[in-house]
Amino acid sequence: MSIHRCKRCNYLYIDEEHEVPFEQLGDDYKCPKCRSSLHFFVKKDTPK
Ligand SMILES: [Zn+2]
Repeated sequence: MSIHRCKRCNYLYIDEEHEVPFEQLGDDYKCPKCRSSLHFFVKKDTPK
């Protein structure tokens, strides 16, 4: 699983909490908190 963080508001998209993994979201996905586009998200390394 992976986690992506919104650089603007620090919202975390955690794959486990959604039906769709971040990588498979469409280009029109917007951060639910600040409405930033996908491009404002950065991948977060998850410790094993
Ligand atoms: Zn955001």
